[in-house]
Amino acid sequence: MEEQGFESLPLSQDSFKELWESVITPSISTISTVTAPNETWRNNGQMLMLELTKVFDEDLFELPQDLPVKDDVTPPASTVLVTTDYPGEYGFELRFQQSGTAKSVTSTYSELLNKLYCQLAKTSPIELLVVKEPPMGAILRATAVYKKTEHMAEVVRRCPHHQAEDPAEHRCHLIRVEGSQRAQYFEDQDTKRHSVTVPYEPPQLGSKMSTILLSFMCNSSCMGGMNRRPILTILTLETSEGLVLGRRCFEVRVCACPGRDRKTEEENSTKTQMGTKQTKKRKSAPAPASTSVKKSKSASSAEEEDKEVYVLHVRGRERYEMLKKINDGQELLDKENKTKSKMSMKLDVPLPSSGKRVLLKEERSDSD
Ligand SMILES: [Zn+2]
Repeated sequence: MEEQGFESLPLSQDSFKELWESVITPSISTISTVTAPNETWRNNGQMLMLELTKVFDEDLFELPQDLPVKDDVTPPASTVLVTTDYPGEYGFELRFQQSGTAKSVTSTYSELLNKLYCQLAKTSPIELLVVKEPPMGAILRATAVYKKTEHMAEVVRRCPHHQAEDPAEHRCHLIRVEGSQRAQYFEDQDTKRHSVTVPYEPPQLGSKMSTILLSFMCNSSCMGGMNRRPILTILTLETSEGLVLGRRCFEVRVCACPGRDRKTEEENSTKTQMGTKQTKKRKSAPAPASTSVKKSKSASSAEEEDKEVYVLHVRGRERYEMLKKINDGQELLDKENKTKSKMSMKLDVPLPSSGKRVLLKEERSDSD
């Protein structure tokens, strides 16, 4: 709008002032609520502005909570934990073992997805790298946090079932540090978040890295616990006073078949477009697995194809819900217009047509 004004207005101060006043109202009201205290406006006697800030104040209270905090020191009691990588002056880095995707593997890490796949209660060695020796008394802290914004405020706990059968004092803690007598389990007084710490140990002679052994004591699918919600593990290098020197985050999936799930998810992630996503037929389907895209172009085979059931792996619950809605709508349409069976083919969205079920990616791994 400024550009239009510049061309049409003469270069006199009066006109510019007019323009300025017309532009400034919305922006000032926003800025003042965030940065300037109300007194500023009271002193200037701008009652209109003051009223505006009052109106906007209420809504803005919720906003800053969700915004990512800058890479500084994390206050120990912050509700939403920082999940960005921060090597810091010690160049804090993690290395995972190259375990591959064999069936038998109990813990494997995907570089592509920055995601650790492991079995329940099995040890995952994680190597720690620093470019210089951290100060005396430095510690490592592991904390779990839900990945999605809508769950982030909730504390990650073990499910009641697994807690009940664990005699340990820290039975409610999901993340454990193995092989160290000096592991300490914490619950933050304010946020109730769980974390486990161990003293940082410099690499053994002849090695560049030190190792921390983590294990996760619930499956990602555990009802009443993670309940299929993806989690991140935050590893921080801290001073003995809790000042963060470095931070690294990675996603974790605890499941029965880490190798298989890693392979599947890596394959899926390379197919970004929904339309080009590989559709797999169910194991019970008699026909050989072939892509449905080719078939759907031929109208003659459409009717036959309508009877087949396809499984579509969808990334993200939101998209899944959206696609499910469309699919449900299609099912309903089919019921109502049994004579017009080809109706669904006219949809613009590259979707599985009637009779196909949209499935959550994780539904497949219910067995764990
Ligand atoms: Zn559990």
